[in-house]
Amino acid sequence: MIELKGLTKRFGDSTVLDGIDLIIERGEIIVVIGPSGTGKSTLLRCVNFLERPEAGQVTVGDLTVEATQARKQEILELRRRTAFVFQNYALFANKTALENIAEGLIVINSWPKPRAHRRAREILARIGLADKADAYPASLSGGQQQRVGIGRAMAAQAEVILFDEPTSSLDPEWVEEVLGLMKQLADERQTMLVVTHEMGFARDVADRVIFMDGGRIVEQGPPAEVFSAPRDERTRNFLRKVL
Ligand code: ATP
Ligand code: MG
Repeated sequence: MIELKGLTKRFGDSTVLDGIDLIIERGEIIVVIGPSGTGKSTLLRCVNFLERPEAGQVTVGDLTVEATQARKQEILELRRRTAFVFQNYALFANKTALENIAEGLIVINSWPKPRAHRRAREILARIGLADKADAYPASLSGGQQQRVGIGRAMAAQAEVILFDEPTSSLDPEWVEEVLGLMKQLADERQTMLVVTHEMGFARDVADRVIFMDGGRIVEQGPPAEVFSAPRDERTRNFLRKVL
């Protein structure tokens, strides 16, 4: 189980996360929606302390990290338990698909290289890229690059995978294959926290949709409820624009 308590983040004078409380059950798929600039990316980044919150705490399993007194070792352990998939893939350009997937296992989990490469090959097969092990990112399509990005997160066997608009940088033709891989993970009950504008994915795959505005969770519930009968005016306005 993952628990965020009172998670608060400020940039200068503006409070970007205003005391976020959230419990994510194991195997739960949560989609976060909301207007631009509302703190969705910051929320994900604070979950694994890519961005350090000013207040609050993050619990993943038996590890609780307090914003105000997080030690370096705790943050590293938190990052081991939470994997991140970025909008722009963030692959190493000078490493092959296989090496990109193996890198974290070697550097963060201290696995010997042969073991990491074996795991990376298994993952490549699962993401449908067994034949691209030795390809460099520049020679892969956007969809293939993002599948490698997701493969890297899968390899880590993290408690939760955090996705920040994983299809937003993709040409439309590649969106479905990436969403398909995410659906496959959801079917395997990989715990996921996903920021996306793909409302179809939210409707079909999410157990819970969270609408954020102004650094707060305004409304949440099963997609059927939030989409068809939003309670808050702000949710209604937002959905009117995107649905
Ligand atoms: P979008 O849908 O456009 O991706 P978002 O909901 O992900 O938006 P965030 O990226 O979390 O929004 O940003 C929330 C607010 O925090 C914005 O006003 C943004 O300008 C500000 N912000 C984010 N990162 C920083 C930073 N490193 N320094 C200063 N301000 C920041
Ligand atoms: Mg964002």
